[in-house]
Amino acid sequence: MDYVLWVADEYAFDRVYSSFGYLGLPTLARDDILRQFSSLMCISGFGAYAIYMIFSTVSFYLFFDKRQMNHPRFIKNQIQQEIKMATDSIPTMALLTVPFFILEIRGYSKLYEDVEERGWPYLIFSILIFLLATDFGIYWIHRGLHHKSVYAYVHKPHHKWIVPTPYASIAFHPLDGWAQSLPYHICIFVFPMQKFLYLMLFIFVQIWSILIHDGEYFTRDPVINSAAHHTVHHLYFNYNYGQYFTLWDRLGGSYRKPSEEIYNSELRSQMKPHSKQDREMKAMASTLED
Ligand SMILES: [Zn+2]
Ligand SMILES: [Zn+2]
Repeated sequence: MDYVLWVADEYAFDRVYSSFGYLGLPTLARDDILRQFSSLMCISGFGAYAIYMIFSTVSFYLFFDKRQMNHPRFIKNQIQQEIKMATDSIPTMALLTVPFFILEIRGYSKLYEDVEERGWPYLIFSILIFLLATDFGIYWIHRGLHHKSVYAYVHKPHHKWIVPTPYASIAFHPLDGWAQSLPYHICIFVFPMQKFLYLMLFIFVQIWSILIHDGEYFTRDPVINSAAHHTVHHLYFNYNYGQYFTLWDRLGGSYRKPSEEIYNSELRSQMKPHSKQDREMKAMASTLED
């Protein structure tokens, strides 16, 4: 995040903060914590909104099968509702996330700059560790959010979308979105990562969360937690909590293979599978909310 903050300071914020002087306000230095906090709030709020709107819109027009909007569980004005929930949550999620960014730019994380410091093999290895470790963290946090004691208060809003569109990717209660992003912020305090690689992966995970909600099933790979697996999660709740891989669901006993009517685009656009999914989903939902 210090790359991003440096660019923002260099090309925009320096001028903004120096103009404070004309108003008789203190011109805050780049390393002033109040300035870092407000700058990072702007960057993370607008950055999250831009990534969300751009990639969700691209995914919606290029990949999302619009016939899914005929599903009996597709809500009237659902896309507007998904966008509203996401945009309402972004400021609170940013507020809760900025303390991690401040710790990071103040040098408390294990991020490093020079690739040669740890070599290329470690750089490649760190990608694998990042994906496996954060997937493990999200698996347990997501599974925990399905516990009856918290589900209705925190995670249920995201499950309003039985047939999600790409705009559902961050349509969460803010605490839910923040809780599920914790592994990304904590991991850099646990193991070293190259700064630029981490930034790229951080953007990649936001795009990945859009892709698993777009209903386009590029792969039937049994290892990858694809949109088909996340579709199963939105339809039947208690399966496929993972983010990138099916590994932790398989080990945790919550794996459910997507059926042929989910994988096959012709079958899944027909009413018969829709009605069957509707019946199964209602039966599953009733067990959650007892
Ligand atoms: Zn989801
Ligand atoms: Zn869930």
